[in-house]
Amino acid sequence: MLNKIRLKLTLINSIVLAAVLIFTFIFVYILLDLNVISNTDNELCENAYQLKRFATLYENTSIQSSNAELHDEYLIYEHKMLSSSRFFGIWDSEENCLISQGNFSVPDNILSAVRDLIFTSQPQAERIIAEADGIYYIHSYSNQSFNVRICTTVFANDMGELRIAQTVSNMNDKNAVTTKLLNILIFAGILGVSVSFGIGYLLSGKAIAPIQQSIKRQKEFIADASHELRTPVTIMRTNLDVVMSSPDESVSSQAEWLDNAYKETTRMEKLINDMLLLAKADLNREKLNMEQIDAAELCRQAVERFNPIAEKKHISIHFNNQTSFSMINGDEKKLDQLLGIIIDNAITYSHNNSNIYVTIENDDNKNVILSIRDEGIGIDQNELEKIFKRFYRTDKARSRREGGTGLGLAIAQWIVQSHGGTITAQSVKNKGTVIITKFSTVEDKKDATS
Ligand code: ATP
Ligand code: MG
Repeated sequence: MLNKIRLKLTLINSIVLAAVLIFTFIFVYILLDLNVISNTDNELCENAYQLKRFATLYENTSIQSSNAELHDEYLIYEHKMLSSSRFFGIWDSEENCLISQGNFSVPDNILSAVRDLIFTSQPQAERIIAEADGIYYIHSYSNQSFNVRICTTVFANDMGELRIAQTVSNMNDKNAVTTKLLNILIFAGILGVSVSFGIGYLLSGKAIAPIQQSIKRQKEFIADASHELRTPVTIMRTNLDVVMSSPDESVSSQAEWLDNAYKETTRMEKLINDMLLLAKADLNREKLNMEQIDAAELCRQAVERFNPIAEKKHISIHFNNQTSFSMINGDEKKLDQLLGIIIDNAITYSHNNSNIYVTIENDDNKNVILSIRDEGIGIDQNELEKIFKRFYRTDKARSRREGGTGLGLAIAQWIVQSHGGTITAQSVKNKGTVIITKFSTVEDKKDATS
């Protein structure tokens, strides 16, 4: 299901990107096209303006030899026009061609149609550019073989006769350039969207990995929890079945079965409470009542509380306080629960007539280090990492016999981490285990802020 969402999100992302790119490319293309057309129009007007100066020159050939400078200018102009795919021509009012040059042919009927338009009262030009020296009319014409822009202006020559100047630009090359640009943009867009899809898919995979992991953990938790709950329910049912099968028997004669069923309800209650705590912790709903606490004093009280339980197994708990400062910020109840979980484990997984050492000290960084060491059964090196996992027990039967549910150390780890501390385990099989927790002291924090 997550993979479908991942694909869907990446697709949506790519579609949005494609839409943005298409919009941008269309905008760029239109802008460029308009710019090219506007530049061409301006150049054509400039060409037409220059052309007007050469009208007299070519109508009156005697000037050609007397005004060599103007003649040279005309030659330069002619060269420039031909090399830039331009056509130019001058006509008299009877539409006789006086000058006409160009490296491409524009059907004369098109040019004369444009000229005719200019003489109508309202010339339907695409653009009209009014300059101090006259009005320039811009038209565009296209068919399969050519696509031109025509600038037409009417003026009077030196003799006061009406003349028409036309400059024409072949737009085929320019259109080819803009079309090429459009093709490049489309190709770049398709490539960009494809690459973005690929990278997006990979990155979204990385982004959803923690979610996948969390869903997997949730599923495992539900499976484990159901399994753990099934056992006490089965035991209760079996024992109550026995009781139900002899309804005439007295309660005292059925005490053994009832006691078994009762023990299982206690186990179930502990299991449900532990599960509830972890579920709340996962949802960040388990609030901590933070206050300044003397960690050494809290340890001393916990040791005192567990002494009678340890004595039942002839285990001695040795408490050693080596701290110079032991004030920490924490939730007293939760920290007490943490100590209870670790000391309870130390007693549970220790042999009779052994020792447990509870030591609290400071390290060089003024942290409080609390270590609870036992001489018990120990834990295999390859299992050491797993003991903090929910429901993990190295010896399920033994843990169950002792009333364990396998959630103690998972809760302990959450308590420590929610206090900004660390918890680690070291162990040698058949030699013993030490659980070490580290918290920063309040003095430490004060030092850090000062
Ligand atoms: P409960 O949740 O009721 O405490 P539990 O003791 O089985 O049940 P944890 O406290 O989470 O669960 O401990 C997990 C497992 O780690 C235990 O089942 C045990 O195998 C191992 N373990 C924990 N502490 C010790 C220890 N001091 N010595 C040896 N094994 C230990
Ligand atoms: Mg335990």
